[in-house]
Amino acid sequence: MCARPGCDRAAVATLSYAYAASTVWLEDLAAEPHPMVHDLCAIHADTVRVPRGWDLRDERSVSPGPPTLGLIGA
Ligand SMILES: [Zn+2]
Repeated sequence: MCARPGCDRAAVATLSYAYAASTVWLEDLAAEPHPMVHDLCAIHADTVRVPRGWDLRDERSVSPGPPTLGLIGA
């Protein structure tokens, strides 16, 4: 479930922080729960904001648009 208060949507992404590097990562939902990460739904994952001077790296493998596999020969 999404970690944001008041949000009951299913989590689709995992947010993690590296304070030393001032970097925030958005990744595909982690299979294993981890105390240092937060799971977010699609809406909250897409609206993540990071503090000034921090990097936000969206490394989710999910890409917009339909998959192209299977179109050949159709
Ligand atoms: Zn949410």
